[in-house]
Amino acid sequence: MSDNKAKISQSSKEKTKTKNFEKNPIKGTKFTIMVSSAKGGVGKSTFAINLTFAIQKLGKKVGLLDADIYGPSLPKLIGLGEKPKTDGKFLFPLEKYGAQFMSLGFLVDQKTPMIWRGPMVISAIKTLTEKVMWKDLDFLIIDMPPGTGDTQLTFAQDVKIDGAVIISTPQELALMDVKRGIQMFDKTKIKIIGLVDNMSFFKTEEGKIYKIFGENGVEKTAKEFNKEFLGKIPISTELRESADLGLPLTYKDPENEVSKVFKDIADKITQGVL
Ligand code: ADP
Repeated sequence: MSDNKAKISQSSKEKTKTKNFEKNPIKGTKFTIMVSSAKGGVGKSTFAINLTFAIQKLGKKVGLLDADIYGPSLPKLIGLGEKPKTDGKFLFPLEKYGAQFMSLGFLVDQKTPMIWRGPMVISAIKTLTEKVMWKDLDFLIIDMPPGTGDTQLTFAQDVKIDGAVIISTPQELALMDVKRGIQMFDKTKIKIIGLVDNMSFFKTEEGKIYKIFGENGVEKTAKEFNKEFLGKIPISTELRESADLGLPLTYKDPENEVSKVFKDIADKITQGVL
């Protein structure tokens, strides 16, 4: 085959590949990781922001997209209130502590409850995934809305994702939803990097351990579905306080016992996408 013919055949092959490849990669990032919980209030957003800085401490450039459009909590978690800049075509993420951030909470009035219908939700998600210009990221973390409904499914089907992390508390009620979450990712062919157990236990100053939400539930679920178990995050006053102050614990105090758990999980997650 002549060089020219070879080139033409190669480019038509690429076209077919592009055509078949329906999922859109997010601009300006190498790897995209979803943080998902099937149920609300299990600590997903707290986990996502602390994971962001735990990965940053590994020497990577990281961004966090708050896709929890019904209850965006990022503005408070990172203490940012200004509006992102735009060039009329793209939105530019806000920057703090060397990381990049985007949330619908930066764009709309936080005091107004978001009562949105389906098409508005889809258009908001499209804005967040297609119109944000991230700058040279190694990892983009996406804090997903809780649940396994249409929004999550649309998101998972449309956006190119390198891996998902499912976070839960160990109680029975939450675990039922975790199983649904695993099935959703398997169905949309998104690799589940692993499962995380949050509010796993409470340790008193004397070292006594209380397993408030039950024992090893997430670990057992991971085994049952043949998924990796990434770690246990304890109930921690420091984690909660730092979240309330907009100063994430893994950024403020990387040597803290809980930050070290995050470091271990961040190691496994960054290796899990490779
Ligand atoms: P979600 O995003 O799943 O709705 P949040 O991250 O908003 O959950 O967490 C719900 C509440 O629980 C917040 O007040 C947060 O500070 C607290 N929280 C989350 N994880 C922990 C933890 N490991 N220890 C103590 N408090 C936590």
